[in-house]
Amino acid sequence: MLNKEMVQFFESILEERSDEFRVTESDLVSPSAFEKKQAKIRRKVVELLRLREVGARFGMQRLDEEMHVISLPVPDVQVLDRVSCEGYTREHWLMETLPGIHMPMYVLIPDEMDRTVPHPCILAAHGHGPGKDSVCGTSPVPEVLARMKERGGCYGEIMAQQGYMVFAPDMWGFGERRIHDDAKYGERDCPALSDAAEACGLTLLGLFVWDHMRIVDYMLAQPYCNEVAMMGFSGGGEQTIYTTALDERIVWGYAGGYLHQFQGGMLYNHMCACNFVPDLFKTMELSDVAGLIVPRPMLYENGTEDGLNGHGGIINVERAAERIRSMYAVYGKEDCLETNFWPGGHQYNGAKTLPFAKKHF
Ligand SMILES: [Zn+2]
Repeated sequence: MLNKEMVQFFESILEERSDEFRVTESDLVSPSAFEKKQAKIRRKVVELLRLREVGARFGMQRLDEEMHVISLPVPDVQVLDRVSCEGYTREHWLMETLPGIHMPMYVLIPDEMDRTVPHPCILAAHGHGPGKDSVCGTSPVPEVLARMKERGGCYGEIMAQQGYMVFAPDMWGFGERRIHDDAKYGERDCPALSDAAEACGLTLLGLFVWDHMRIVDYMLAQPYCNEVAMMGFSGGGEQTIYTTALDERIVWGYAGGYLHQFQGGMLYNHMCACNFVPDLFKTMELSDVAGLIVPRPMLYENGTEDGLNGHGGIINVERAAERIRSMYAVYGKEDCLETNFWPGGHQYNGAKTLPFAKKHF
């Protein structure tokens, strides 16, 4: 069949990948050997995401010579409005992440939180859908709101009601940040923005990571925040893995509905354009990117029936998790990697999230 030829054409490119930017057995013999490989992979991921280029034209140096994040001056913020909700207040902010680029976000502040003393706080990334609304359990469309509540995936709101201050932005192309003023609620502009970014020497995923890092700059400069963790489901899981991989200020992460392998996944997963970074798949695996988080704690959650698990289903995901686990074993910290592969589809489950947060904050 002609379709099999095309699949084989692409899969064979991944089969022929060299080990230059891949974690191998010889990298797992000691922490120093592993960290040497991490440094190499980190530099390559930064290069492929075009992360330095995002701020370069504004004179903003995001990374040092070793590709470690440098904290940048705190971005300007405007508070637009404030709504009292069940157990927390939801503030609507605009944060300037680059000169002239304003990111809307919700900041959820638990009622009992004393903002004169430091707390652990959460950066919550949304997936594909209505942006920050999906994370915070709010929507102007009653049917959408009902569906969100029924599915129980509003992890920003859930964590705020558990006492954590939550920052939930709209990424490029989502929520209030659509290209067209009359864009339909709940959809996204990833394909157009991804094409534009690549044609301009950038990547959309690099822009996502940049904006999240600007929020971390802001959070850690506040007297009420002493630790940042990141959470995200689906596209938010994607943003969490890449941001946490490159931003070592983030102490732990939760990525739901996203762990997979590029090999056996790229043509089967129906992933959005924001996943496709030029040259990335032929260079390394997702588990190599996730290896940059090691040994910081990470919780990966996937439904065993999730269509995004790739060819081979959950076995594809378990293979990725085992590979990542071997990296934690270098430090004897296998307990810092947790998985929740639960019997379900592409949906937030969250059964292990709260205990994980309590354990690792
Ligand atoms: Zn996308």
